[in-house]
Amino acid sequence: MARVRLLAASVNRVDVYMRDSGAGITHTLPQTMGVDGVGEIVEIPEGCGHAVGDRVILYPYEFCGRCRYCLAGDQPLCTNARIFGEHRDGTFAEEIVVPVVSLVPLPQDASIHGASALGVAYLTAWRMVFGKTPTGPGDTVLVQGAGGGVSYAAMQLAKMSGASVIVSTTGPAKLNHFRQLDVDVIDYGTEDVAKVVLRLTSGDGVDLVIDNIGEKTWPSSLRSLARGGHLVTCGATTGAHPSADIQRLFVRQLSVHGSTMGNLEEFRRLVNAFTSGGFAPQIDSVFPLAEVPAAFERLEHPDRLGKIIIEIAESSK
Ligand SMILES: [Zn+2]
Repeated sequence: MARVRLLAASVNRVDVYMRDSGAGITHTLPQTMGVDGVGEIVEIPEGCGHAVGDRVILYPYEFCGRCRYCLAGDQPLCTNARIFGEHRDGTFAEEIVVPVVSLVPLPQDASIHGASALGVAYLTAWRMVFGKTPTGPGDTVLVQGAGGGVSYAAMQLAKMSGASVIVSTTGPAKLNHFRQLDVDVIDYGTEDVAKVVLRLTSGDGVDLVIDNIGEKTWPSSLRSLARGGHLVTCGATTGAHPSADIQRLFVRQLSVHGSTMGNLEEFRRLVNAFTSGGFAPQIDSVFPLAEVPAAFERLEHPDRLGKIIIEIAESSK
């Protein structure tokens, strides 16, 4: 294990869930919240490839390393996993003790705020964009509700891959923001998303839909898919039981799959893409550790765009 002095963390929707009840997630109160974070090593066994003072980003899982999923390199499916801030103490703290394998080196010149947004939202988005059905140049991707943390990350990573990206969002501030980017923008408040998608894609539909909204957007997500297309979900903010539209699924040979987080190798690749300038996380706002409740309020604000950062301490270097 290693002891890490935390510099910054970020807020995720699961934190609000843990604040409100955490029902269904095995945990014992009192428990420190916060899933992802960046810090400096304070104490670590000799000879494990890191040194005291090194800056690191945390892979937010304590996984067993023995189950069939861990042995296959798929840590997010570990049957004994304990996620920081969900099953064990998390990162809204001055220090945290974590397994050495959770430490990924972070160069001194990398943005601390940007890096602290990667562990949950960007890692989840990475697997959605590059996982089972990897996207790339020539593909078209629809991101529903693109203002959210994971959705915004998916939009950036899909663009980085060379795919053409369409986003749905609403509200003047968000519409204006996305219209400045190199993406097609649909106002789901006033437009029929699937109809506009079909118009933009010459009647084909898109190859991949990223939908973390759930019940409200599900029908338009399915109708926006090209034949043989894929829908990937990692959230159900507006409800978890939409119509499955099974006929559409088999006639058009669509696939739907769920995704959450990513494995250590995906995390390393994500951190490398970030530190080499492939993308810069979108930061909505920054709150000090003492104001975590205000950060949660901001998370629910309709104008929020991108990640909310919790600043914990100054770097010693
Ligand atoms: Zn395991």
